Amino acid sequence: MPATEFDPLKFHEGLVAAGLIVPVGVEGIFGRNHVFEDVLERFNAAVTALAKDDGAEYFVYPPVIDRHVLEKSDYMDSFPHLAGTVFSFHGKELDARQLSVMIHNGEDWGQTQRMTSVTMNPAACYPVYPSFTGTVPAAGRLVTMLNWVFRHEPSPEPTRMQSFRVREFVRCGTAEQVVEWRDMWLRRGLALLESLGLPVQAEVASDPFFGKGGKMLAASQREQKLKFEVLVPVISRDKPTAVCSFNFHEGHFGEAFEIKTADGNTANTACLGFGLERVVMALFQTHGFDPSTWPTAVRSKLWS
Ligand code: ZN
Repeated sequence: MPATEFDPLKFHEGLVAAGLIVPVGVEGIFGRNHVFEDVLERFNAAVTALAKDDGAEYFVYPPVIDRHVLEKSDYMDSFPHLAGTVFSFHGKELDARQLSVMIHNGEDWGQTQRMTSVTMNPAACYPVYPSFTGTVPAAGRLVTMLNWVFRHEPSPEPTRMQSFRVREFVRCGTAEQVVEWRDMWLRRGLALLESLGLPVQAEVASDPFFGKGGKMLAASQREQKLKFEVLVPVISRDKPTAVCSFNFHEGHFGEAFEIKTADGNTANTACLGFGLERVVMALFQTHGFDPSTWPTAVRSKLWS
C-alpha cells in the first residue's frame, strides 16, 4: 500500500507524523530518526554485498571539499546556483564586536565574512578525482564512497534536500572499461531496486546546468546518452524521483586533473550514485511508513 497519494506535501507531513524525519526550520534540512537510519544502513549494506567481489577501494570524505576542485572541474561554470561556498570571519576584535551588534540588531552580517579555501561537497565523487592524478594501472581504478553532499536548492518537498548522502562508485580507465562497467551496474542497480519491490524505470537524463547555455549542454548530454537515472514514483506518479544516477564524464575529469591511462591517453571516468535518503523515501512511499508491515520478501532482503 502506498503511504500517501503521491503528493509532495502530504508525503512530507506523513514522514513527520511517523517520526521518521524531524524538521529543523530550514527547507531541505531535517533530522532522521533511528527507523529511517536503519533502513538507510540496510540498503547501503545491500549495495556493499552486491559489489563485494568487485575489489573497490573504500573511502569516506568530509562534507567539505577543496575549493580548487570545483574551480578546476568547471563546476562553478555549470552549476553556480547549486554550489555552497564556505565563508568565515577573518576579522579582529573590533570587527567581532560589530558582527555581534549586527546579529543582535537583526541586520545582514554577510559582508563580515570572507571566502575560505573550502566549499560544501556538491557530488559524492568530486573529492576523489584529484587523487587519481598521474597514470592509473592498466586495469584502471575502482573506488566506492559514502559522502554527504550539498545542493543549494531549498524546497518544501522532502525528496529535494539541501544535504544528503550518496553511496557512490567511481570507475577510471579507458572509455571501453568505464562504459562496460557502467552498463553492468545499470542492470545490477535496477535488479537490486526491483528486488525491493520498487517500480523502477531507467531513463536518459541530463544535469540541471545553469542558464541559457546550460540548456544546450543538457541537450547534448541527453543526445550522447552520458547520463542515466533510475526513477521511482515517490511524490508524483507523472514525475518519478531519481534514486540512482549513472554518469559517463568521458575525459572531463581526466583532463582537469591530468589522469592518464597506462597507454598514455587521457583517462575516462564514470560514476554511479544511489541517493540513499531518496531510496529510503521510495521504500516508505511504496510499502508504507512502518517497515514492520513491509512485504516479507522486501524485509528479508534488507534484514537478512
Ligand atoms: Zn559522481
